[in-house]
Amino acid sequence: MSTQSFDIAVIGAGVIGAAIAAELSRHDRRVVWFEAAHDVAEGASKANSAIAGCGYDLAPGSLESDLILESSEHWESLCRSLDVPFRRIGALSLAFDEGDSESLKNLANQAGAAGVDAEILSGDRLRRAAGTAAPTAVEALHVPAEAIIDPIRLTIGLAKLAVLNGVELRRSTPVTGFWHHPSGNISHVVTPGGAVAVGAVVNAAGVNADRITDAADAEPFTMWPRKGQFMLLDRAVGHLVPKIMSTAPTPETRGIYAIPTTNRTVLIGPTADDRDDRADKSTDADTLDSVWARAQRLLPDRVDRRYVTKTFAGLRPASDRTYRIEVSPKVPNLVHAAGIRSTGVSAAPAVARYVTNLITTEVMTLAPKSAALRDIPPLPRLAEVTTDRAAEEFACDPGSPPDKHPMVVCACEHVTAAEIAAECRGPVPATSLDGVRKRTRAMAGRCQGAYCSVGVSFILSSATGQLPGGIRQGEPGSEWEGAEQ
Ligand SMILES: Cc1cc2nc3c(=O)[nH]c(=O)nc-3n(C[C@H](O)[C@H](O)[C@H](O)COP(=O)(O)OP(=O)(O)OC[C@H]3O[C@@H](n4cnc5c(N)ncnc54)[C@H](O)[C@@H]3O)c2cc1C
Repeated sequence: MSTQSFDIAVIGAGVIGAAIAAELSRHDRRVVWFEAAHDVAEGASKANSAIAGCGYDLAPGSLESDLILESSEHWESLCRSLDVPFRRIGALSLAFDEGDSESLKNLANQAGAAGVDAEILSGDRLRRAAGTAAPTAVEALHVPAEAIIDPIRLTIGLAKLAVLNGVELRRSTPVTGFWHHPSGNISHVVTPGGAVAVGAVVNAAGVNADRITDAADAEPFTMWPRKGQFMLLDRAVGHLVPKIMSTAPTPETRGIYAIPTTNRTVLIGPTADDRDDRADKSTDADTLDSVWARAQRLLPDRVDRRYVTKTFAGLRPASDRTYRIEVSPKVPNLVHAAGIRSTGVSAAPAVARYVTNLITTEVMTLAPKSAALRDIPPLPRLAEVTTDRAAEEFACDPGSPPDKHPMVVCACEHVTAAEIAAECRGPVPATSLDGVRKRTRAMAGRCQGAYCSVGVSFILSSATGQLPGGIRQGEPGSEWEGAEQ
C-alpha cells in the first residue's frame, strides 16, 4: 500500500495545468503535479501563436469568452510578477475587398457585444498603424487590447510559482491508471514509480485528456490533435510588422496571421488540420508553401522567404466539446480542464480560478494559506535590459573576467552564462538543451545553436553534474553521446 498521500493531484504541465497548480499553491492543500514529459511546456503550450487574446472574436456569453475576458484585464501585473515578456500591441484584421469589409463589420459588432473596444480604420489611418505592412489592404478592424506573450515563459513562470509555494512537481512521470474507492471516487493515482493516495484529481492532460478519463473510468469523450504549421521570420524584419495582422475571417477559415513575437521575430501561420497521430509535429513543404502564399498580402513587399529562420508545428487539443471544465458526472472527485483547444494561453489564469472554485464548491474546501506566499526571484536578462547602467550592473558568474562584463554565451540572443546557470538551478530547473532554450532563448536565434550549444552544454553539465556526453537535447534517448556522427 502506498505511504505517500496528497490532497490534490494535477495531471499535465502545459499552461492549463501550470496555472491550476499555481492557483492551488495559494491554498492550504498538499498538491502533487504529474507531467509525462521531461519538462513543463512540452505540449501545445510550447508551439502556438503566442497571442494573449481579449476575446473580441468570440461569441459573448460562452465560458471560453468569459474566461478570456477575465484573464485579459490582468496580464500586465501577472506577467510582471512572473517575469514573462508581454506587450499589448493591438491587432489589425484586414480587408482587401468588399467581402472582407462585410466580415469586419460583423467582427466589430461581435467585439461591441463582448464589451471590447474595436474600431474600423480606413485608408490613411490603416497605413499609419500598419506602416509598410499589408500594402494592398483597404480597411482594417483595430483591436487595441490584443496582446502578445511568451507562452513558454508563462508556463514556466507559473510552474516556478507553484513549486516555490509547495507544489510537488514530478516530471517524466506519466499517469498510467487509478485505483478507486467503492464509492467510485479515485483513491490513488498510479504512475510507473508507484501509487499515490489523493483526495481529488485535476485532468489537464491536453490532447490526452480522453485517455485520463478512460483510465479513471469516468465518462468517455474524444480528443484529437489539430495541427498548426508555422514559419518564423528573422528579427531583422520584425519592426516591419508592428501589430498582430490577419486576413479577415471567412466561413471556411479564421484567416492567416503575421504575429510579432515578444522577442521581435515574426510568426507566420498557423494552419488547422485535424490529424490522428498525437506525436507528429512534422511540417511539410506543400503546406508551408501555401502558408507563405497566403501571408504575402500581410507582409511588406521587401520581406521575402530568405528571412524564414525556422518552421515548426503545434498540436491543438481538439475535442468533441471545447472548454470541458467541470467535475466529472461519473467520478465525483475528478475535475476536467480539457478540450481547451485554441485559446488556452489567453484563458489560463481565469481557467485556474474557475477550477479552484469548482474544487472548493463541489469536491473539498480550500482555504488560503496562512504562511506568506513566495515570489519568483528576479533574474536579470541581458537581452531585456534597457539602459547601459543596467548592463553594467548585470550579474556575472563567479569566474567571469574581473571587469565584471557579462559573459555572453549565446551571441544571437544575448544570453549570458549567469542566466543559463540560474535556470539550471532554479525552482523548475532546465535538465536538457531544450529546457535551457525555453527558459533563456539561448540556441533559439539565427544560428539555432550552431555556435553556442557547446557552451550551453558545458554550463548544463556543471549545474547538473552530468558528463557532457550525457547531456540531452530533450527527452531521454536524445543524449549527445548516442547521437550519430
Ligand atoms: C497552432 C496553435 C496556435 C495556437 N495559438 C494560440 C494563441 O495564439 N493564443 C492562445 O491563447 N492559445 C493558442 N493556442 C492554444 C493553446 O496553445 C492551447 O489551448 C493550450 O496550450 C492548451 O494547454 P494545455 O495545458 O491544455 O495542453 P498542453 O500544453 O498540451 O499540456 C498538456 C500536458 O499534459 C501532459 N500529459 C498528457 N498525458 C499525461 C499523462 N498521462 N500523465 C502526465 N502528463 C500527461 C502532456 O505531456 C502535456 O505536457 C494555439 C495552439 C496551437 C497548436
